[in-house]
Amino acid sequence: MNNICPYCGKEMELGYIQSGRGIAWRNKIVHIAAFSALSRSAVRLSYALGPFDGHVVEAYRCADCKKVVIEYDEDAE
Ligand SMILES: [Zn+2]
Repeated sequence: MNNICPYCGKEMELGYIQSGRGIAWRNKIVHIAAFSALSRSAVRLSYALGPFDGHVVEAYRCADCKKVVIEYDEDAE
C-alpha cells in the first residue's frame, strides 16, 4: 500500500492499530460477547503478535483529512 492519502493526495503517516482482541470489519454491530474475528461475516483486519501481545494492523493516517486507511489481507492469520 502506498502512503498517499486517497482523499487529498498528501503523504500519510504509517502507524499501528492495536487491540487486546482481534480487529475486524463487519457490516453490522454485534454484541461484544459474540465478537469473533473468525466468524463468517467478519473481515479480519489484524494479526496476532503473540499469545499475550494482542493483535495489530498497520494503518496510514492522514492528519489533514482525519482519516485512517487500512489494507487487509484476507489470508492473514
Ligand atoms: Zn488526506
